[in-house]
Amino acid sequence: MGGRALVIGLGTSGRAAAALLLAEGYEVSGFDSRPSASPLESLTACHLGGTTAPPAAYEGLDLLVLSPGVPPAPHRALARSHSPDAKVTGELDLALARARRRWPDTPAVLITGTNGKSTVTAMLGHLLEHAGARPFVGGNLGVPLSTRLMERTGARPGALVLECSSYQLETLSPTPVDVAMVLNVSPDHLDRYDDLDHYARTKGRIFCGLRPGGLALTYAPDPRTVSLVPAAWGGSHTAVGAPHGPRLDPRGRLRVDDTLVLPREALPLAGRHNAVNALFALAAARHLGLSVDACDAGLREFSGLPHRMQLVAESEGIAFYDDSKATNVASVVAMLDGFERPVVLIAGGRAKRGDDLAPLATLLGAQGRGLIALGEAKQAMLDMARGVVPTEGVDTMREAVLAARAMARSGDAVVLSPACASWDMYESFAHRGREFCDAVRQTIAHDPATD
Ligand code: ADP
Repeated sequence: MGGRALVIGLGTSGRAAAALLLAEGYEVSGFDSRPSASPLESLTACHLGGTTAPPAAYEGLDLLVLSPGVPPAPHRALARSHSPDAKVTGELDLALARARRRWPDTPAVLITGTNGKSTVTAMLGHLLEHAGARPFVGGNLGVPLSTRLMERTGARPGALVLECSSYQLETLSPTPVDVAMVLNVSPDHLDRYDDLDHYARTKGRIFCGLRPGGLALTYAPDPRTVSLVPAAWGGSHTAVGAPHGPRLDPRGRLRVDDTLVLPREALPLAGRHNAVNALFALAAARHLGLSVDACDAGLREFSGLPHRMQLVAESEGIAFYDDSKATNVASVVAMLDGFERPVVLIAGGRAKRGDDLAPLATLLGAQGRGLIALGEAKQAMLDMARGVVPTEGVDTMREAVLAARAMARSGDAVVLSPACASWDMYESFAHRGREFCDAVRQTIAHDPATD
């Protein structure tokens, strides 16, 4: 192999792609808009700062490697005019093609959706790990696949379980995979796409390489996901939630097929949406040949990921959950819908463009004990819930937890599920979640009932 490549974006995945190509004998240059990005050793040239590399850097290219977080348009345009034959690709696309060649017998599963990707990826990875299959679990979550490919030691992975963001799917080519799924589609990233349809079509690229015997999984209550499976594809397509698909049956059990039927209590994660996530993971696991017993045993031991409906503490019958990763309205709607307890919701932050708060009011009316609002979206949140449930506006997370604690009754849940990004007050959703956990622990520690 070999040739000339330009890697746009020198973050974790860009660096991993560059290292992979360098090891294959490519002449690799890099660009990052951050003047402070640390250049990678052995790059032929490294252009830092500005919005694009100098036009000459786009000449004579075989590959233009786009990192997911970089707006692609100016780079695509420069490559088109200076190297019209260059393949436009991304780290996931490069790595998946190589992984299929190196490990042709290793099944691959691709997972996307607006919400729930990381949970389903981790859950399926856990089921496979628990069954002794030694999967590689990564992609958008955790370690890039390129990094795994660079490890020359170690046994072949028993499966590849890859979380895919829509940005990564923009550059995915039709490499054969065994299972591909779209969990749901709701407004998100509308600063990058023309409209919701464009965003959804990008998610639909996940099905482009499904093998003839492969499995496409979509979600029946979200018909947009169902319509993304190409009509011409002749393999099996299963819609979770459809009458004969993997579903929650009338007795509230998880039913994947005739043999795999589990009580919802078998799942340690709270929320109906997590039962739906489990149905996706179980359907994929069954397609890969896991036994019913292995699925059952693995699921019971999956403890979830931090900041996704994580139980922080329980005090005086009130359960406190950290769902800081819920950064859009759809994720909070899914959390509230069918939740096991009345909820005092702590919400607010930096609202996502194009996100409509109205659906929250309906769910709060059915499921909410009250709303505590903070951050930039505080007023909009208070307006949304006025007349629906008791509300209170606060300025800090500590005040939010205190107010929620005062509003909740025994048997309720206090849930930080903000429906907004965290950047108005925090570095990240994880930072916000940690502040919430600290505030909960302090509040409980000072609770006269527990003194
Ligand atoms: P992603 O990786 O797609 O961002 P996560 O698994 O990290 O998804 O979950 C993010 C948030 O989305 C969670 O905090 C939860 O509120 C919500 N969520 C999880 N699963 C679902 C689902 N199936 N449908 C809707 N919302 C969900």
